Amino acid sequence: MIKWLGLFLLLGIRLFADDCVYNPVAVPPPTPEAISFYKTGNFLWAVDFLYSLVVPALLLFTGFSAKLRRFCHRICSKWFWQVGLFSLLFLLIVALLNLPLDFYSSYMRPHSYGMSTQSLGRWFHHFLTETGVSTVLGIILVWILYGMIRKSPKRWWLYFGLLTFPLTVFLVIIQPIWIAPLFNTFRPMEDIPLKEKILSLADRAGIHGSRIYVVDMSADTKAMNAYVTGIGTSKRIVLWDTTIQGLDENEILFVMGHEMGHYVLNHMWWGLLITTLLSLVTFFLVYLLAEGYLKRRPKRIGFDTLSDVASLPLILFLYTFISVLISPLWNLYSQSKEHEADTFGLELTHLNHAAATGFVKLQYNNLGYPWPGEFYMLFRTGHPSIGARITFFNNYKPWCEDKPLKYGKDFMSSEELQ
Ligand SMILES: [Zn+2]
Repeated sequence: MIKWLGLFLLLGIRLFADDCVYNPVAVPPPTPEAISFYKTGNFLWAVDFLYSLVVPALLLFTGFSAKLRRFCHRICSKWFWQVGLFSLLFLLIVALLNLPLDFYSSYMRPHSYGMSTQSLGRWFHHFLTETGVSTVLGIILVWILYGMIRKSPKRWWLYFGLLTFPLTVFLVIIQPIWIAPLFNTFRPMEDIPLKEKILSLADRAGIHGSRIYVVDMSADTKAMNAYVTGIGTSKRIVLWDTTIQGLDENEILFVMGHEMGHYVLNHMWWGLLITTLLSLVTFFLVYLLAEGYLKRRPKRIGFDTLSDVASLPLILFLYTFISVLISPLWNLYSQSKEHEADTFGLELTHLNHAAATGFVKLQYNNLGYPWPGEFYMLFRTGHPSIGARITFFNNYKPWCEDKPLKYGKDFMSSEELQ
């Protein structure tokens, strides 16, 4: 009798295990601050977009770019140094013109909403480092771009577009090792019990020998985040220290399950492929529009061929315009991959309730707006809305309903691992 009772109790515990009880978490309405952050964010996005067109347009139509190129020709005799000096000066001028808007959106605005913990000195140090890194990378890109335009005036867009793939792979490899540490300190995760739990989750997901780093983002912001980055030996999961401070253990485990989804489902490689395709389309359109414009022989810009490096603001203007126009394609693609990672995370952890409470905290903490409009969803985010995600966390439990799992069939059980 006692034996049967014990079995019944065990079955009962299994049948009514926590994760199968419908215990929904309500999507909280946005706070007045979050509403204001969302609306002013949309406005700032539009201002930023217009400004990023106005700057190259000014440099182009005032003839400034042609004057700068003439200056560089007087100083250097070789094409290589002429282009190098021109792009150095050009990129520094653009960075200076962007400085006021940069300062407002990355320092003043987050401070005014109480989101930032960054000191002015630290902001300025980041600004200088970022300008240094992007100027060096920018000069290399301009050399390659104009080398290609000179060699192949009709096909350069194809070669440069295809080059996106190896260039982005290179950047993704070096970014976590050489670039990100210029801004923040990365340490292997220290919290041993939590780390053990994350590693056994990783083992179940089929990721072995994974590297987990914690980054000191609390020196910059109160926001919480985590991401997967790197390729090969630089591949790693990175948790912001703010996330560890702000979420409880199960909430962190779900976030890690989500990040492992990106890792296992090869989202990085798919992302690189889509980026290359979009880049090909963008540069093809830049080529068509720029050539079409130059055929009309505009006088005041001071050059008549695209292979003249003075055309850089023309290419920049068209590139920015087209990239923003086609950005919804990337955002919708990314949203679908984020949803896959959410599904993966739930199937791996069964932590529906913790996932939902974690995202409620994320919404409060990051001044999130749970149900953004179509404009925001198309142009401003690569993630599903917080409202849709919390609703999904509340409802997605195929393991409780004897329905097949999407990714879980490949997970190893805890017994298999022992
Ligand atoms: Zn994600």
